[in-house]
Amino acid sequence: MRGLGEVPHRWVGWPGQLSSSAADGREALTRRLREEQGCEPVFIDDEVAYEQFYEGYSNATLWPLLHYMTERARFEPSWFHGYEAVNRRFADVVLEVAGRGARVWVHDYQLMLLPAMLRAARPDLRIGFFLHVPFPSHEVFRVLPERETVLRGLLGADLIGFHTFGYLRHFRSALLRSLDQDSMPDGALVDGRHVRFGVYPIGHNREAFDRVTTQPRYQAQLEELQRDFGDRRIVLSVERLDYTKGIPHKLQAIDRFLGEHPERRKDTVFFILAVPSRQSVDAYRELTARVQLAIGELNGRYSTFSRQPVHFYNRGTSLERLAALYAFAEVALVTPLVDGMNLVAKEYVDCRGAPGARPGTLILSETAGAAQELAGAILVNPYDAQGVARAIASAIARTPHEASAAMDPMRSRVRKHDAEAWARSFVGDLELESRVPLDPAAEVGDALLERIVGATRLGLILDYDGTLRRFVGKPEDATPELELLELLERLGALTGTRLGIVSGRPEAFLQQHLGHLPAWLVAEHGFRQRVPGGEWEDANPRADLTWLDVVRPILEQAADLTPGTHVEVKKSALVWHYRRADPEFGAWKAGELVGALTEVAANMPVEVHRGHKIVEVASQQVSKGAALDALVQSWAPDLVVACGDDRTDESMFHRRDAYPLLETIKVGPGATYAAWRLPGVAAVRRFLQRIVELRTGE
Ligand code: UDP
Repeated sequence: MRGLGEVPHRWVGWPGQLSSSAADGREALTRRLREEQGCEPVFIDDEVAYEQFYEGYSNATLWPLLHYMTERARFEPSWFHGYEAVNRRFADVVLEVAGRGARVWVHDYQLMLLPAMLRAARPDLRIGFFLHVPFPSHEVFRVLPERETVLRGLLGADLIGFHTFGYLRHFRSALLRSLDQDSMPDGALVDGRHVRFGVYPIGHNREAFDRVTTQPRYQAQLEELQRDFGDRRIVLSVERLDYTKGIPHKLQAIDRFLGEHPERRKDTVFFILAVPSRQSVDAYRELTARVQLAIGELNGRYSTFSRQPVHFYNRGTSLERLAALYAFAEVALVTPLVDGMNLVAKEYVDCRGAPGARPGTLILSETAGAAQELAGAILVNPYDAQGVARAIASAIARTPHEASAAMDPMRSRVRKHDAEAWARSFVGDLELESRVPLDPAAEVGDALLERIVGATRLGLILDYDGTLRRFVGKPEDATPELELLELLERLGALTGTRLGIVSGRPEAFLQQHLGHLPAWLVAEHGFRQRVPGGEWEDANPRADLTWLDVVRPILEQAADLTPGTHVEVKKSALVWHYRRADPEFGAWKAGELVGALTEVAANMPVEVHRGHKIVEVASQQVSKGAALDALVQSWAPDLVVACGDDRTDESMFHRRDAYPLLETIKVGPGATYAAWRLPGVAAVRRFLQRIVELRTGE
């Protein structure tokens, strides 16, 4: 790829289905591809993998779904296994050829699991992913049974690119609704990594067209067209014979046009160049037959003895001939039903400047990605046959001057933003450092770890949700995994170390899942507490809780009016959870609720706090900070490390001013009073693991 310039690079790709004799010569082929073209082949020559991965999941599930054609999409669980297996094969080959810190650019919907596979195996790689097709609205994407795995696969990348802002918007909506993953227009924080998003509209291969249009063969093709069709207006269509391209709809529009403009039947000719595609998939064979029949009917209806209005070419053509057709045609009729970008439109625009080209007009579907950039085209709704017929009539009626005036600005843009510029801009962005350092734990840890190793009596005070355990769909499912329990067990058992877990959770949850640990437990943000193996007790027996009965109906009303939300009643707090509500509706209602509560509770001893998909009203007379005070008093440590992710943890961080022996760590982004930061749960666990290793001398 020219945009990659002098950067040394290797292509990893599937060389296509091999015949059995070619399969025997696999090694020779590999050598040739490697030496002559710098390519590393990934073979998919067993029939099952080919069918499941390529014909099945890629072309019969993802392709129609990503193009909004839900009724065409087929779902077979075995296809996804094949898709996974082939993505894994790609991962294996990439991992073999990619050196340390290499940049890997993954292309398109056939390899959506690859970024996460590469990330898991090699965190040093910088991974980009570009989607060459549309990303549909969540209402469509949600139909995919494996939607969560596919989205997680993509999130393995450092940079994810789309053709248009619309596709990026849909992708973000899918992240929010399928994975509960928040994001900004330019990226998301995923497990402490910043995954960036960007819009990179692809351009055509300008250099190839510039080259062929200077060749004698191009000139010869142009002269032949001039000789045979010089007295007629050519309306040209070029596309793969694919159901997303809307060829039957286009034929209906042509039918209308010819029916309504008998005077044009003699001087207008429609060239339909439909390149065969995926003929092994049933839907494509059926489409070919349907198109052939419709064209036969059209010509039967409108031909004269000497002239035929529709010329159909069901084959690919050389670049010279294609360029000559573009240059010669006075109208390009590009009417896909949905199209990620559509390069034919851009090539046609560029070829207006080719030697001997005639002035021309582009008719373009508003549903093609290219429509966002090509404002000088006549934009049409491809489903509106009448509108398309009208557009054909008005394009043909344009004077050369009118045509050029609309075309010239588009041509400048298309030439500037060609394929090379597109690749350069994506790769340039991939080079940029992510805004969040990849593993600040290493930085934070070194200075802090030294203090921790040196402490004789170390206290660790850890929050649970968002600190030790990642948030999941249902809070009740966020139970500690075995790996976490083992880690906590080891921490609690370290000599000269005291472990406290300070959580907003009720005591029953903590007792059930963490009760067996050698740890001090604090529930409900400090309201209830327990020493290792002891009984639970109130931290502040004098706390006033009369407000609970006043506030509870307000939260319950919010739950009644907002589907997917509920109220959790704790001993010293009430929590309205909206994790299962529509995320935008939930966030809006949460804002309203906080407003209402702030007024009602103005004179009550409570704090209203908006946390991760919750609104919580809790007693002011208890806090994690007060719990920390009690632990420090009873432990008499020489160093305490407090770690948390939430606003309620800030009450612990504020104690920094009171105790020089306190080290504070905020987990995740956001303003904080803590001195240190760790990017996410995974980093917290690595940090704790390191403490175990250092204090046991492992
Ligand atoms: N094309 C080709 N051979 C042909 C006719 C067209 O290689 O006989 C090329 C055309 O130049 C364009 C591409 O096929 O670059 C079609 O790309 P587009 O984005 O329009 O649609 P896609 O096929 O990717 O859906």
